[in-house]
Formats: sequence, C-alpha cells, structure tokens
Amino acid sequence: MTSAGRFAPSPSGELHVGNLRTAVLAWLFARSTGRRFLVRVEDLDRARAGAEAEQLRDLAAIGVNWDGGVVRQTDREPLYTEAIGRLTAAGLSYECFCTRREIQEAPSAPHAPQGAYPGTCRNLSAAERELKRAARPAALRLRAARGEGTVQDMLHGSYTGVVDDFVLRRNDGVAAYNLAVVVDDAAQGIDQVVRGDDLLPSTPRQAYLASLLDLPAPEYAHVPLVLNADGARLAKRDGAVTLGELARAGVGVEQVRDTLLASLGLPEGPLEQALAVFDPAALPREPWVWPGMAGRGA
Ligand code: GLU
Repeated sequence: MTSAGRFAPSPSGELHVGNLRTAVLAWLFARSTGRRFLVRVEDLDRARAGAEAEQLRDLAAIGVNWDGGVVRQTDREPLYTEAIGRLTAAGLSYECFCTRREIQEAPSAPHAPQGAYPGTCRNLSAAERELKRAARPAALRLRAARGEGTVQDMLHGSYTGVVDDFVLRRNDGVAAYNLAVVVDDAAQGIDQVVRGDDLLPSTPRQAYLASLLDLPAPEYAHVPLVLNADGARLAKRDGAVTLGELARAGVGVEQVRDTLLASLGLPEGPLEQALAVFDPAALPREPWVWPGMAGRGA
C-alpha cells in the first residue's frame, strides 16, 4: 500500500479556520512527500447530521483534495473488534466500571502521572466484576505495562507523555478514539499523522498501542493551534470563523485561504503554489492568533 497522510475531522459542526489551517498543513506535508492524502470522518462521537457534507464541501473549497472515497469510522466496527479481541486474548484488557466522577475523586497511586487512570478496576476479582456488571455496563481498558512513553515529532522533537490504562471500548459499546485512530491509520496505510498539537499528549498512548498490535507507528507532526484574541483556542463562538460565516460577512474563500497561507509564511494563491515551496523546517512554531476577517470584505 502506498504511504499516505490524512485529515480526520470529527463531524460535530462546520470546520473553522483553525481546523482548515490544520487540514491545509496535513495536505502540504503529505503531497510534498509524494504521499496520498485521505479524509477519514471520525463519527464515533459527536456527529451532527449534515456536518460531514459541510466539512467536505469546505475542504474542497479551500483547495484540499483527497484520494479515493471518504472513510467513516462507524462503518469500521469489525476492525476495532478484531484489534480489541487480540489485546484481550493476550491478557491486555480489563473491564472498568468507574464513572468519570469516581476517577476524578480516586486517590491517585503514588508516583502516578497526572491525568492517568488510577487503576481502580485493574485487579478486581471475578466475583467483584460480576457484582459490578449488574450495576452498570463496563468499559474496556488497556492493561498498560508502562506509565509513560516517548514519541518523535517532526515539530516538537522527542516528546514524553502518559501511557496509562486508557479506554479501548467505551461503556456504551463504541470503540474509543485512541483505539480507532491507531487501527484506522494502520489499516489505511497512513504513515504520516499531521494534526493539531492538542493531540500531542495522546500520542505516546497511541504509539504504544500500535506496538502492542504489531502495527507500524506513523511519523508525527503536531502543528500549532489557532488562538483567539484572548489567547484561548479558537472556537465557533469567536465570531465569523467558518467559511460560511465569513462569506456572509463578505469575505471570500480565496481571501481566507490566502490569510491562512500568509500565516504559515507561504505564498498566497492556489495551494499548489504553496506546495512548490513548502518546507516543514520553516514553519512557524508558535500558535497563530486569528486576526478576524469579518468586515474586511470587498
Ligand atoms: N478527530 C479528531 C479531531 O477532530 C482528530 C484525530 C486525529 O487527527 O488523530 O479532533
């Protein structure tokens, strides 16, 4: 399978300029290295009817094209079940009955890294599990053999973060994000993951899971997020931030594209022109503050 990069949006609403900037970067990284570029709709969670079509329309409008059809995670349950089955057969999973609140309130194990699952359900007896199953459905967690892991990132260098007993299958029966993303990237031949750096902390978990499943870990580039004027991560409430909202304010898609390219130090115009001079080493490493464009239309 030829190697590929990807953009993997969650169809929870329209993409905003921060999401679009990440998509443009993922496209530039993939295309500049001769990779295919795939779009995967991560609809296991937070899907809103109609959002997928809007997202694909906006990607195309900004000039991000992709190869082949769009893949949806809700169509891929057998792959996730197979991977979870392999982990379980190897003794690498266990049922967890904790609520979010119980996890927050549990005393953490000595030396446990912050944000790590405290291990409450790790060593339950069969009888204890039986009792708990009657009260609430179990999630399935990974029995991780280590507390942290290190990954190499093209922009961040060596990054070490928590590898805890994270969730493989949620207690509503749906595959968890960390499991699905690892299984899908490998199954789709994705060997380059470019995404927002809010996901860097999850990456050691994902690389560890790939190693347990005997899957190759992709190369990673976690790109800076776009911030609002207050320094917080850009969100829908920050005014006109989607192509639709900006168009209604008189700002055309080419203008938005050019602003995003300029923020990356790249030439304005069709993405192919930026591609011709794209150099990951020259990318700004700092988050970019969205200047706001509404009112700046023709
Ligand atoms: N679906 C995730 C999101 O939209 C991205 C996952 C990934 O790129 O690995 O935040």
